[in-house]
Amino acid sequence: MDHSHLAANWADVRHRVDEACRAAGRDPSEVSILPVSKTFDAAVVRAAVALGLHRFGENKVQEIRDKSGPLADCGISWVVIGHLQTNKAKDVARLASEVQSLDRMDLAEALHRRLQLEGRGLDVLVQVKTASEESKHGLAPVELPSFLDELARYDTLHVRGLMTLATQSEDPAEVRACFRQLRDLRDAAQARGHVLPRLSMGMSGDFPLAIAEGATEVRIGSAIFGRRAAAGAV
Ligand SMILES: *Cc1c(COP(=O)(O)O)cnc(C)c1O
Repeated sequence: MDHSHLAANWADVRHRVDEACRAAGRDPSEVSILPVSKTFDAAVVRAAVALGLHRFGENKVQEIRDKSGPLADCGISWVVIGHLQTNKAKDVARLASEVQSLDRMDLAEALHRRLQLEGRGLDVLVQVKTASEESKHGLAPVELPSFLDELARYDTLHVRGLMTLATQSEDPAEVRACFRQLRDLRDAAQARGHVLPRLSMGMSGDFPLAIAEGATEVRIGSAIFGRRAAAGAV
């Protein structure tokens, strides 16, 4: 397989992220890119590793299982960004370096128990539902304060910030409102003493708006790897 498009796509995405930072009056070093490799196989990920990428987002734990074996020599940090069932906690505790889709207490409990057995900790972001679509996962915004307070009892879970998916809309104002809400929730939580430096928001189609609203990390799949087969689409 020829993976030469990856280098050009990666350079283009990095350039567009830098441009969005400048347009927003932000320093490009404040915004990192999480390449989302879901549905692309280990050979493609290996080609991305050759470009210097070492963190990859996946929305299914099964895909991390499938790819982590053949890529064991690559030193990859796997980041879970998709809805997570508690029965996957064991694999997550073994294989993932981070979970960005923590959205409920029974999942926190399950991860904590498995992490204790593994003797390790995990960086987590709390996924908040800012979009109106029924299909989007995430904690209800009103529940965030008490959720953050309760998470403090799990010393294996290192809470670093918040994550969201914006509404799919033709209207940029609607999309931007989702990102702004996440930032406002973060600011309010920080005012209450939580330390939440990271905001993971923005994807291939909407990352400039997310950067304008304070994203510290954008999750980019198709703009780097190309179109996904329909079966893998979210
Ligand atoms: C697939 C996915 C992305 C990346 O989407 P693209 O539009 O391909 O950039 C980002 N975040 C989550 C949670 C995803 O599932």
